[in-house]
Parts: sequence; structure tokens; C-alpha cells
Amino acid sequence: MKSMNYILSTIISLCFVLTMKAQSPYSLPALPYSYSALEPNIDSTTMWIHHTKHHQAYINNLNQALQGTEAGNLSLNDLMSQISKHSVAIRNNGGGHYNHSLFWTVLTPNKNTKPGKDLMEAILAQYTSLDSLKSLINKAASTRFGSGWAWLSVSADGKLLVSSTANQDNPLMDVVTEKGIPILGIDVWEHAYYLKYQNKRGDYLNAIWNVVNWDEVTRRYHEVIPKKKGKFDEWPEIKTFHKSMSETFHPSEEGNLTPVRSRSNELLQNAIALSKSKIPTQFNNKGVQSAVKKLVDGSKALDKLVKNKASDKAITQSLSKLHDTFHLIVEECSH
Ligand code: MN
Repeated sequence: MKSMNYILSTIISLCFVLTMKAQSPYSLPALPYSYSALEPNIDSTTMWIHHTKHHQAYINNLNQALQGTEAGNLSLNDLMSQISKHSVAIRNNGGGHYNHSLFWTVLTPNKNTKPGKDLMEAILAQYTSLDSLKSLINKAASTRFGSGWAWLSVSADGKLLVSSTANQDNPLMDVVTEKGIPILGIDVWEHAYYLKYQNKRGDYLNAIWNVVNWDEVTRRYHEVIPKKKGKFDEWPEIKTFHKSMSETFHPSEEGNLTPVRSRSNELLQNAIALSKSKIPTQFNNKGVQSAVKKLVDGSKALDKLVKNKASDKAITQSLSKLHDTFHLIVEECSH
């Protein structure tokens, strides 16, 4: 009986340990670069304390606050979106963990990252320039009284949104007024900059743009807004022809006929493949069909000239005519 009790109590404590583990789901993500990597913009001591002490403390406190609640079973994103149902400790520390996990990834020592094509288009459409977007974010960050964050998010209507939140709140939370999916967050708590910048939050905000990881911001943007399709994505044969065309035609414009003399048969084969391909419905009209036929004829003529070792002048003229025909197809595709 005694040993039965012992076994039972062992099982019970084992279950308790397992439950504790299940309810301590969060751990500190590794930094994707070294603590000194963002020098001189963000100093290594600040990075080290910020990551190993501040972020770790949010995680420890979050795991503790989650104990004995159902909230530990939610994803962090789901927890944010229904944060009003949970304790202040979960709000502050869950936000702290989410925000810092995002923050490390949107910084980089790599120079010259820039917003991707679609994101840049959205920035220009809404803010006229990248610099004016940066000023707006800096304004949101510098006018945030006390501790908080400045954000660039994608709102429910697919538009970019600049906002700031207090403490460790973020735009995912149901308690904030300006909601969205954050793609860039800037920590404006003093612990993020005080060692190096002291009271000069503005200097920190100017420096941080030197280390913003636009590749990651763009990646996050495309998690919300799918990449725009290229016009000819559904007609790969025309893209293949275009590649051969531009790699032979552009050198010829500079008097270099070596590429076309060695690749005229490739042009012809690609033109034939194009004529045999299924023209996507949105482009399939008589103009396109006849221009494609013309392209095959033109490629045949060019290939014949090259085989007969015709003069540079004759080949240049024939290639230039073929180039015009190719652009005729592109033009007809917009009808
Ligand atoms: Mn922080």
C-alpha cells in the first residue's frame, strides 16, 4: 500500500512537471547576428542586456503568468488578438515577447537592404517617398510619451499603417485602436537606447534606419499581401523567347553580333515553342496569333542569314525587325 502511494505520488508529480512544461511554452529566440553586429548604430552592451535580460524577463514572466490558464495553448498571434480576455501580466509580457521577437528580425548588419518592388510601390502610393514614411514613423516614435513602440503594419484593408502603442502593446492586440499586422516595429523604451543615446531618442531613431532589415520587412509584407503577378507569368514561353531576344538584340545595338551569330537557332527554336504553346485566354486574339506567326517567319529568316554567313548589316537589320515583331506581340497582348 505504501509503495502504491509512492508510485501514485510519483505519477502525480510527473504529470505536474509535464503540465508545467506544457504551460511554459516560450523561450528566448537566438539573435540572427552577434551582439556587436549593429555597432555603431546600436551598441553591443545595449543589445546584450536587451536580449538576454529584458527579453528573457518578458518570457519568464509570460510563462509564469500562463501557468494554470488555457492561454498557453494558443499561438502567440492568437493570444495577441484576444488579449483583452487575459491578465495584465499576460498582456505586458506576451506583448513584450511578441514585440522583441519581431524587433530582432527587422534589424540587420547588412547594408543596403531596401523595400521590395510591391512594398515600395505601396509606400510611394501612400507616403510619396520612403523618406517621408521614415519621418512619419519617427514622429510616431518620438511623440510616444513614456515607453512604447512605433509600428508599420498592414491594416485589414491591405493598406500600410503607421502607428504607435504604449508599453508592450502592439497592433495585433484587440485592445488597441489602430489595428494591423506589424511588419516593422521600433522599440522606443529607454532600455533600447539609453546607454548610448541617453535622453536623445531622436538620435537613436535616426540611427536605427541604418540597420533596418527591409528584406525581412518585405518578407513580412508578402505574408499578408501576396506578390503581384507578372503580366506574362502564365505564358512562360514568351518569357523564354524574351530572354534570348534581349541577350542577342542588346549586344547587337552596340555592334556586337557574336551572341546572335551563336544563338540564332535558339531564337528560332524558342519562337517555334512559343507558336506551339497555349496562348493564355487573356492574350488570345487574332493580333497576337498573327504576330506570333510573323515571329516564327522572322526567326527562320534570321537563322538562315546567320547560317549563310551574311553581312553584319543584313543580320543587324533582320534582328532589329524580329525585335519589332516581338514588341508587336507584347503590344497586342494589351489589347
Ligand atoms: Mn525592449
